Amino acid sequence: MSEVFKGSFTQQEPIPEDAIAAAVAVMRHGRLHRYNTADAEVSETALLEQEFAASVGAKYCLAVASGGYAIATALRAVGIGHGDRVLSNAFTLAPVPGAIAAVGAVPVLVEVTDKLVIDLDDLATKLDKAKVLLLSHMRGHICDMDALMALCDAAGVTVIEDCAHTMGAAWRSTPSGRHGAVGCYSCQTYKHVNAGEGGLLVTDDPAIAARAILLSGSYMLFDRHLASPPAAAFEKLKYETPNISGRMDNLRAAILRPQLRALDSQVARWNQRYHTLEKGVQHTPGLTIVERNPNEHFVGSSFQFLLRQWTTAKVDDVLSRCKKRGVELKWFGAAVPSGYTSRYDSWRYADITALPKSDQILAGLVDMRVPLTFSIDDCSLIARIIREEVSSVFQQS
Ligand SMILES: *Cc1c(COP(=O)(O)O)cnc(C)c1O
Repeated sequence: MSEVFKGSFTQQEPIPEDAIAAAVAVMRHGRLHRYNTADAEVSETALLEQEFAASVGAKYCLAVASGGYAIATALRAVGIGHGDRVLSNAFTLAPVPGAIAAVGAVPVLVEVTDKLVIDLDDLATKLDKAKVLLLSHMRGHICDMDALMALCDAAGVTVIEDCAHTMGAAWRSTPSGRHGAVGCYSCQTYKHVNAGEGGLLVTDDPAIAARAILLSGSYMLFDRHLASPPAAAFEKLKYETPNISGRMDNLRAAILRPQLRALDSQVARWNQRYHTLEKGVQHTPGLTIVERNPNEHFVGSSFQFLLRQWTTAKVDDVLSRCKKRGVELKWFGAAVPSGYTSRYDSWRYADITALPKSDQILAGLVDMRVPLTFSIDDCSLIARIIREEVSSVFQQS
């Protein structure tokens, strides 16, 4: 009998007890709205912003309703509006082109390399096409940020980082989200901290921070923030900036603060699992492991490998054989979007031109989530199943 994995690829860990206690305290006093504070009280949301800013070394931080909202707000706050073009990587998920569409802008997509990062050569040829690059650190793969920033700085292109998969990660010693003008994070259940929904945005630029705070729906209560620029930064902007409600509430912030304090130890646990998977599938015939740059301090909350030059039928065969044994793999080559996964050419509202290099890579790209409810033994078992099924399909003529 071949081994079968019984765990769930979508089951995250429970909310920690200290976070539950903090949430209950907020519910007991009833002041869930971030600006509903008793005399001299500082809201959970303001404290979360202060703590997250400190953790990544940012001057300013804003907590919002979702990661996608954080990205759209960042785009607006750097001045992107209707008809503007925004560079972005082709390998990402739907909320990224969605955020560009939300502000009425148009994506200009950049190819992906076989390391699953933005193709800097292709980017270099497209830098004259837009004033902003929305860089998505998709599945936690971080490109050479020194080279990317040098290119963008020289071209006067503002960088916004989508760190939905890199909260807790770094390039060299700089936290992910701190190279560009703005870093955006998601606090959604499947990311690195879990508030159900939620987002964070960080920047050192007082005008961007003030605009983002006003956009998120601060009314004239921006003095109740802790990680915000001085009142002078709002003076003119408060009359010019629309209120596009998307605040975070104190219940979510209360759940997130203890989780943020535990982030580094969670990252270590993710990476143990990632390295177990990586080691377990090494030297499997037909399977290419995605190389990681030693400067990249990633969070192994998902795992990818490539089945290069494989036919669709054979990739399908691997996926269905693994599925029968309880291992749910996602494929970025599928013609039709399914589940959370979609390919750039399925964003038909965006009028996108074909990217042949990305097509070739995505055609062989297999992806899986690594929830922390998986034990190290689970990861060894999953790797054995992948190894066996990939090998046997590969060896069929
Ligand atoms: C999840 C995700 C987002 C957006 O996060 P939400 O909080 O779900 O809006 C953005 N980019 C990527 C790559 C994501 O996976």
